[in-house]
Parts: sequence; C-alpha cells; structure tokens
Amino acid sequence: MNLPVIPTGRRAALLPLCLLFLKTWVPVHSYLYNNRYAGDKVIRLVPESEREAQALNAIFHQLTVDLWQPSSIFHISEGTVTDVHVPGNSSQILLSYLQQANIKYTIIISDLQKVIEKQSGLRSCRNRRSVLGYNYEVYHSLEELGKRSRPYKRAVWIDCGIHAREWIGPAFCQWFVKEALQTYQSDPAMRRMLNQLYFYIMPVFNVDGYHFSWTNDRFWRKTRSKNSQFRCHGVDANRNWKVKWCDEGASFHPCDDTYCGPFPESEPEVKAVAHFLRKRRKQIKAYLSFHAYAQMLLYPYSYKYATIPNFSCVESAAYNAVNALQSAYGIRYRYGPASSTLYVSSGSSMDWAYKNGIPYAFAFELRDTGHFGFLLPETLIKPTCTETMLAVKNITMHLLKKCH
Ligand SMILES: [Zn+2]
Repeated sequence: MNLPVIPTGRRAALLPLCLLFLKTWVPVHSYLYNNRYAGDKVIRLVPESEREAQALNAIFHQLTVDLWQPSSIFHISEGTVTDVHVPGNSSQILLSYLQQANIKYTIIISDLQKVIEKQSGLRSCRNRRSVLGYNYEVYHSLEELGKRSRPYKRAVWIDCGIHAREWIGPAFCQWFVKEALQTYQSDPAMRRMLNQLYFYIMPVFNVDGYHFSWTNDRFWRKTRSKNSQFRCHGVDANRNWKVKWCDEGASFHPCDDTYCGPFPESEPEVKAVAHFLRKRRKQIKAYLSFHAYAQMLLYPYSYKYATIPNFSCVESAAYNAVNALQSAYGIRYRYGPASSTLYVSSGSSMDWAYKNGIPYAFAFELRDTGHFGFLLPETLIKPTCTETMLAVKNITMHLLKKCH
C-alpha cells in the first residue's frame, strides 16, 4: 500500500489554503456544464460471448448512451473492453438489465459531475503559469492557449534577406533559431534572453527575390513585383519604407537596383512587416536587420547626417557588440550611423523602425569586405554566424540591463 506523501515546507503551508478554497469554491460552481452530468455513471463491461456483445449492442442503442470506447457499438464483440457513459436517469435501467442478463460490469465513475467539478477545483488551485510564463502541465482553455496566456514581455525583431543576393543573411537567421533551441538549457545568457524577451524572426524577408537569386540571377537584389510601364521587375525593399521615402540614396527609376517603388509600402513584404511592427511598436525594443557585405554594424540615421537622441546608449551597445564579435575570430567591424559609415539612403527599414519608436535599430552588414562579396563560401557560414551570435546576444543583454 502506498502511503500518502506528506507535504513539507512551503507546500505544506499552502495546501490547507488551497483546500479551504476548494471547499468554498466548489458549491458556487456546482452548475458547471449546467449540472448536466449529475448522477451519470461510467460503466466498464467486457462481453464474455458474442451473445452478450449483441445484448449490449441492443441495450446501448435503446438507451442512447455515450460510448467512450470502442468508438462505435458495431465494434463491441466478445472480449472488447467497453466503457460506457450512461445518463443518470438511464443508469438504473441499464444496471438492472445487466443484472438480469447476468453480465458482469464495473462502475468506474459513479457520479461524473462530481469528478468534473473536483478536477475543475484542483485546476484553479494549480499555478497556471511557470517560469516560462506557461504551465505545460495543466490544461488550458482556448483563451489561455491563445494570446492571453502570454505574459507581457518586451520583444526583439530580427529579419534577414531583405536583399535577395545576400545569402549569408537567411543563413544567419536560421542559425539564430538553431542556437536558441539548442543552447537554451546549457547557456544561462540565452536562457535569460529567451525568458525575458520575445524574439520575432523573419528568416527570409524577400522570398520571391531570394528564390529568383537561386533560379535565374544570383545577384538579384530587389523584390520581384511587376511594373506596369517598364519591363524591369522589382523594388528595393530597403528603400520602400515610409521614412524620407525616395529621397537621397534611392531611385525613382524602376530599372535601378535602388528603386524605391511607386509609393511607400508598395511591396507586400514591406507592407506586412510594417503593419506587424506598427502594431507592436511599444513592445518591440530592438530591430535588427541582416545584410551583407561590408562588416559593419550600422544604426540610424541612414537618410541624414545627424545624431540620434539616444546616441550614447546605441553607440555603447554597438561598441560592445563589435568587440564581442571580434573576440571570436578577430574579425573587425566598423560601426556608426549608416549615413556616415556606409552611405546615405532613404526609405530604409532601420530608419523606419527607429522613427516608429523602436529605440535600438541596427543593420548588420555581415562578412566579408569584398574578397568573396555576395559569394561568401559555405565554409564561412559557421564562423560568420558564430561571431554574429555574440554581437546579437551582446546587444540583447545590453537591452535587458541598460538604458533604452
Ligand atoms: Zn542589403
């Protein structure tokens, strides 16, 4: 015989409270499911002959029972374990029938309503949330399974592959997800990041363009949208944002690689992401966009030579991030405002994110500095991603503990 486990310490102190709660709580909710299962029974039968099976089949049909198993009365035959839920008012009829017919049975549940209510009471006592914000060991209502079960957390947005030919971008996004999943248990920094922040990852921003760079033109940069007047396809998805749209560093000509599009957010990819970010502008604290190549860590502004209001925070985050990156393989990154570090460009996602209230907005220009350029060999994916992870983690940790 098993002895009951005696709760110790804090649990012991909590238990009576919970029981007290149960006692007062259950009667209030005794109309769970409108009390429709009051007196209902669940009965187990195992027919010992085909004759018994047929008899059960007939009585079940007559009484409109709820068969728990097997799934249909047609599957009841000799030796079949048969569990049947019988409404309270029919259970006496069934039981006396079984006794008369000398068919063996066991009552598994004698009052279904009571069991449902007991479980419901216990559920209310259990912690619905765990350290991760979601308790995987309790049942959740549809509402809890949906949005409302997620506690409020700040978030980081990461996108890769705005420009199709910069293949190291999507490779990094995939790498990031892999690392997050594989090192959550072993790496305290990763655990802290994932516990305290949501990460929204878009592995391939410009899907059509990326595909085209595999099938037709390895050096395709833009989207693949059609133009009504020109034969040229595509818009530069990093010039299509509603921030100084189509000003300096962007082109009005549809055949140019930096074509800004017919109007801001003309590209469905840009429109969708802008909509997503706009809706979560208060929640998202960092916007990270991955490009190649130049080995630079850029922050706003792109469209003008000016200092951002939270320059010191962003600048120190960038400084620490490039140092962390360099610590892996000695690869040096330049960092600074995009306008003065790279070139002036308007309508970029980074500027847009910053202008829409995301305080940490960065664009990475990954390896290399031009030796292979867009054709960065696959052998360099691992070192590039490894060092970039250090920078991303550094920025994220900065976000968690320092200024915004
Ligand atoms: Zn790019």
